[in-house]
Amino acid sequence: MNHVLVINGLDGPLARILGCDCARCTNGTRQAHTSASLISLNDQGEATHHVLFDIGLGVSDSLMSIPYLQGSRARLDWLCLSHWHPDHTAGMNQLIVSRHANNKRNKLNLPPLPIWCRPGTAEWVQQHHDFEFGLCELHTTGNNEPPGILLPPLPISLPDVTITPVTVAHLNADKGVDGRRPRYACAAFVIETAAKKAILLWDLDSSNEWLVNPQTPEQETAVAYLSHADYLFADTAFWQAKPNKTTSHPSFTNVQRYARRLQPRQTFLVHLSGHPDGRGNAGWGWGNGRWQAEARRVWQDEQLPGQVHVPAIGDCFTL
Ligand SMILES: [Zn+2]
Ligand SMILES: [Zn+2]
Repeated sequence: MNHVLVINGLDGPLARILGCDCARCTNGTRQAHTSASLISLNDQGEATHHVLFDIGLGVSDSLMSIPYLQGSRARLDWLCLSHWHPDHTAGMNQLIVSRHANNKRNKLNLPPLPIWCRPGTAEWVQQHHDFEFGLCELHTTGNNEPPGILLPPLPISLPDVTITPVTVAHLNADKGVDGRRPRYACAAFVIETAAKKAILLWDLDSSNEWLVNPQTPEQETAVAYLSHADYLFADTAFWQAKPNKTTSHPSFTNVQRYARRLQPRQTFLVHLSGHPDGRGNAGWGWGNGRWQAEARRVWQDEQLPGQVHVPAIGDCFTL
């Protein structure tokens, strides 16, 4: 069995901003929120299993453009949510209700869609997406583990793939529906096959120093597990770190430190934006091509490990 990881989107929460005249907002390329699909293929190249990681806006359209999921070949076996923020869940209604409608119309007899998320995220999703939750089968792990803990692998029946969530802190998301803090709700994912390791490290705040300087045996174990990946997909919400300030997302400055410690073969910048750096500063209004060119220049100057890329919607990586 072969496995591929397909990029469904790489935009940060606001994507294009109504009324903004920056180069990123005025360029007409299709955008979608950060998301990826793990698709298993049989020897005939047909999809036999599909795990979707996050479902923000534009992601359903991306799925329909993946050759392995065209028309009646489409399938969705699991949905994994990194956390509850709208840029990772806003497409739930379209996706889950259309899966349900297609199931009924074509008498497919599909089971409820299995969803995995942390309990803190489940509470929010229950509140915001109660109707869609009724069409799903919820799986959660643990409760309120602090950042830098490997959770048990997901109960997904793929014999040669392991998907392991890793707890991360993500400032604005780490609160309960009743306002209590911290209610840790976010996870990164490590996908391992016999041949490759890919890491989906998005939506974490700039305080996750355990990634470069682990303090506990659990954090040491997590960092070892996150190291030497073939593909590291890293949240890069803006270019320049804000000194002495914890930001809800890492900057490219943070990503350089993560890469130096974790030593991935290839680093892919996702969750991009063109706005948080502020008008007139580096990062402002950058499109994906500009992000890649600037990142590569730094990668070379700083002799960072492996290569850095900005992926495109539809890019497909063999695992
Ligand atoms: Zn996000
Ligand atoms: Zn978020």
